Amino acid sequence: IARYSEDIYSESGRRLDMEKNMREATANGCDEFEIYFQPIMDIQGEMAVCTGAEALVRWNSLRQGFMTPADFLPLAEYLGLINPIGNYVLTESCKYCKMWNDEGHPEFHVNVNFSAAQLLQNNIVDIVEKALNDTGLRPANLILDVTEKLAVDDLERMKEIVTKLKGLGIQIALDDFGIGCSSLNHIREIPFDIVKVDKSYALQLTESAYAQSFVKMIADLAQTLEIDVCVEGEEGPAQYRTLHGAKVKFVQGYYFDKPLPRRAFEEKYVRR
Ligand code: C2E
Ligand code: MG
Repeated sequence: IARYSEDIYSESGRRLDMEKNMREATANGCDEFEIYFQPIMDIQGEMAVCTGAEALVRWNSLRQGFMTPADFLPLAEYLGLINPIGNYVLTESCKYCKMWNDEGHPEFHVNVNFSAAQLLQNNIVDIVEKALNDTGLRPANLILDVTEKLAVDDLERMKEIVTKLKGLGIQIALDDFGIGCSSLNHIREIPFDIVKVDKSYALQLTESAYAQSFVKMIADLAQTLEIDVCVEGEEGPAQYRTLHGAKVKFVQGYYFDKPLPRRAFEEKYVRR
C-alpha cells in the first residue's frame, strides 16, 4: 500500500528548491549570504568591554526568505557548498574586522566558524593566508572556531591542521565544548588558544550545581594550560554575575546582545 501525503511532497519539494537556490546563490558570488556579528565581551575588569565579535552567517534567499544556520548549513555541508559559503564568510569577516581595527579598535578580533569539512580542504592554509593577505587583517586578530568532530576521528590530523594554521599567526578556539564527545585530552593535546564552553552550561548556570562545577573545572584547567575561556549563552544578569569574578575571561550571550546585522553592531560597538 502506498500512501500519499501532502507533507512528504512539500518537504522533498522544499529541499529540492533549496538545493537549486543554494547552488545558484553560491555560483553568484554568495551575496545572498549575510553575516551577523555577536559581541564578545572581556569580563575580567570592573566593566565588561567588547573585544570583537563572532561572525554568524544567515541566508537572505531571494526565493525562500531569511534563514538561520540551522535551516541551511546541514544541506550546505551535505552538498559540499559549505566551502564556498565558508570562504566567503571568512574573507568578508576579515575585511570588516580590518575596518574596525583601522577605525580605532586595533584590538578587535573576529571569530569565524569552520566546520570539520572546511578544515579538511587540502589548501586550507592557503585559503586562510589569502584572506589575510587580501584584506590586510593582522593574523593575531583572526580566531577560527572549530569543533572536536575531526579530532574524534583523527586526532593526529587535527593536531597537524591546527598547528599549520597557527603557523600563520592566527588563533584557534575549541567551540561547543562540553557536549558531544568532549575530551579533556583534546584541550591538552591540540594547541588551542581558547576554549568556548557550550551555551547549554550558561543556560543552566543558576540552578545546576553540575553546570557551575563544569565551568569552574574548565576555567581551572585552562588557567593551568595558559589558554583563555569563553562561556557562551548568558541570557540574564544572574548568569552573568556567576561568571563575573570567576576565572572566565570572555562571555558571549543575549545578556549583552544577540547576533546583530553588521551596521547595528558597528553603531553600538565600533562607532559608539
Ligand atoms: P556557535 O558557533 O556555537 O555560535 C553560537 C550560537 O549560539 C549562535 O547561533 C548564537 O546566536 C547562539 N547564542 C549566542 N548567545 C546565546 C544565548 O545567550 N542564548 C541562546 N539561546 N543562544 C545564544 P546561530 O547564529 O544560530 O549559529 C548556530 C551555529 O551555526 C553556530 O554555533 C555555528 O556552529 C554555525 N555557524 C554559524 N555561522 C557559520 C559559518 O559561517 N560557518 C560555519 N561552518 N558554521 C556557522
Ligand atoms: Mg562559534
